[in-house]
Amino acid sequence: MNTKYELLYEGKAKKVFAHNDLDKVKIEFKDDATAFNALKKEKFEGKGKLNCLISARIFETLIKNNIPTHFIELENENTMIAKKIKVIPLEIVLRNTAYGSLCKQTTIKPGTFLSKPLIDFYLKDDELNDPLITKDRIELMNIISSDDLELIINLTLKINVILKNFFKNIQLKLVDFKLEFGYDSENNILLGDEISPDNCRLWDLNQTNDTIISLDKDRFRNDLGGLIEAYSEINRRINAFL
Ligand code: UDP
Repeated sequence: MNTKYELLYEGKAKKVFAHNDLDKVKIEFKDDATAFNALKKEKFEGKGKLNCLISARIFETLIKNNIPTHFIELENENTMIAKKIKVIPLEIVLRNTAYGSLCKQTTIKPGTFLSKPLIDFYLKDDELNDPLITKDRIELMNIISSDDLELIINLTLKINVILKNFFKNIQLKLVDFKLEFGYDSENNILLGDEISPDNCRLWDLNQTNDTIISLDKDRFRNDLGGLIEAYSEINRRINAFL
């Protein structure tokens, strides 16, 4: 579909193509799902389209709330036009409730509510397996200035407030999420990547007992089945609400 545009980069879940306007890119969402640094892989027909549509609606909501993002518009159901950014090699994870790696690496029990959101930084480096890193190590490696890191932390906390409210309105609990940021041609920091059930943990609030119903990539990570059904349900709730 995008064959006439140069492929600039291919990641695990997305392809980035050039745009006629050099300040823009076309991001095509793939149907591939990977977990555990791509040790586990599977294709889910329709996932790319669902993540693209969900991400687009979320970026629009963030933009309305004055968060600078790379999103410009949808080109079609699985491609978005975005501002070209130089991605900062950090994954910023914010946690509202303990789950996943936090519980594997500490004695904190899964499902524990965190009264203050926890922000964890991971170095984007497949060869090193995206290790957890500290603020001091980020400074030591000269990845970004401490002022820019503070700016990213503040943006992440603001995004959390907006997203928690957004998902609460559609009966979903925002457990945690991962963000990536980058610099545009004028050196502004913009939120990049995607915001979808591939990089957020979302639990269904539409149920009466305490069982965790994951409507996110944990369905794939933990072999729960029903990934497309879960992502479709999120897309359905967003469209019914907005
Ligand atoms: N996450 C992500 N990409 C990664 C690692 C984590 O998008 O490479 C997201 C994940 O979907 C979850 C949050 O970041 O919403 C926290 O993930 P965690 O550190 O608990 O890692 P996991 O348990 O997924 O290995």
